[in-house]
Amino acid sequence: MISVEEALEKILSYVDVLGHEKKPVLNCLGQVLAEDVYSTIDIPPLDNSAMDGYAVRAEDTRGASRSSPRELIVVGEIAAGSIPRGEVKPGTAIRIMTGAPLPKGADAVVQFEDTDEANRKLSRGSLSQIGIFCQVENGFNVRYKGEDIAAGELVLKEGKTLRPSEIGVLASVGRATAAVIRRPIVAVLATGDELVGADQPLAPGKIHDSNSYTIAAEILRYGGIPRILGIGRDLIPALTEKINEGLDADMLITSGGVSLGDYDVVKDVLKERGEIALWTICMKPGKPSAFGIIKNGEKKVAHLGLPGNPVSSMVTFEQFARPAILKMLGKKTLVKPSIQAIIEDNVKNTDGRRMFARVMVTKRGGQYRARLTGPQGSGILTSMTKANGLAVIPENTKGVMRGDIVKVQMLDWSEDELLEE
Ligand code: AMP
Ligand code: MG
Repeated sequence: MISVEEALEKILSYVDVLGHEKKPVLNCLGQVLAEDVYSTIDIPPLDNSAMDGYAVRAEDTRGASRSSPRELIVVGEIAAGSIPRGEVKPGTAIRIMTGAPLPKGADAVVQFEDTDEANRKLSRGSLSQIGIFCQVENGFNVRYKGEDIAAGELVLKEGKTLRPSEIGVLASVGRATAAVIRRPIVAVLATGDELVGADQPLAPGKIHDSNSYTIAAEILRYGGIPRILGIGRDLIPALTEKINEGLDADMLITSGGVSLGDYDVVKDVLKERGEIALWTICMKPGKPSAFGIIKNGEKKVAHLGLPGNPVSSMVTFEQFARPAILKMLGKKTLVKPSIQAIIEDNVKNTDGRRMFARVMVTKRGGQYRARLTGPQGSGILTSMTKANGLAVIPENTKGVMRGDIVKVQMLDWSEDELLEE
């Protein structure tokens, strides 16, 4: 039995960052940029107005106030997207919309609210003049050419994970496509003669295959592309055939068939086609996990064999499959985000393995508090639906007592639950 850290290190040593793909920027969300992106243009491209108002010469507003407005002659109007034709000469102003280029001669913008425009409109007065209510400085409400991005500037560095803001920056510099590290295709195979599909009626002794769904959903959530192979029977020829179907993927994840009694079936396929790198890890749940390599001609496919129990397969997925997927995606931070919380239940560690207890974390009195979600059986999948974290109970201890501080790996960060009560 090896430690969780040793197992992870071994698994990661077998997976590599994948190659690049070029695709439309919106499809790149969450992926890692595989190129340095430089801007060929200034953003904004011209000095422009930050407000709807009047483009003026700041010196013409000197001494202006609500009780003593400065009257200026309005010589035109500029909408966003058009190019100003007129010029603001001393004593004049041009009506201007947000984003419209600043006209020649103007060096500031006074917003509508600081003019008498509304009063003039109410009293159906002339708009050929405008009263300015305040004194503004040179540059007031002006956005300068290139103040966001200058032409030639490096705007996004290779290695950056693309969030909505980065997708927007790519579009703003005129990039419709980007080169990113491609997403791993992960084949998912459930094993077990007791399993039937979620859409099939249950014969006596059968259960629905839920692991294919939780595992595929986790793959999607962490950025991979799941390819569900279906259900493999607990017989070597049938299983070999199913496993063969998954060998053009970047990784194969099986569930079930790795505990003492029946692991041989998967192991024989593995032995025949590749090598077993590890089996059994010092953790609970998840002890009978396996990892190996299956050879497919020149290509080697990483195979992670998760235990069949629904909670065990989820917990081991989080510890091993998630970091492997993130590494293939080119991500640098592979550790699961965690917090320190006060545990509100006694948790016994009966056999010294590292325990991952399902907890609900809430925040009270400025502190995170973790409460067990109920029975911790590794077949009780609903205990995961009630949890937002996994409390890590250290190996080689007798457990933790109510009031102790524990590390909790967060599965979710629901703002509702973590709001101060
Ligand atoms: P195994 O690891 O194959 O011995 O399976 C352990 C337990 O997990 C058994 O009770 C199985 O019925 C259950 N199990 C295995 N695979 C799945 C699956 N795909 N969906 C739901 N339960 C499963
Ligand atoms: Mg089985």
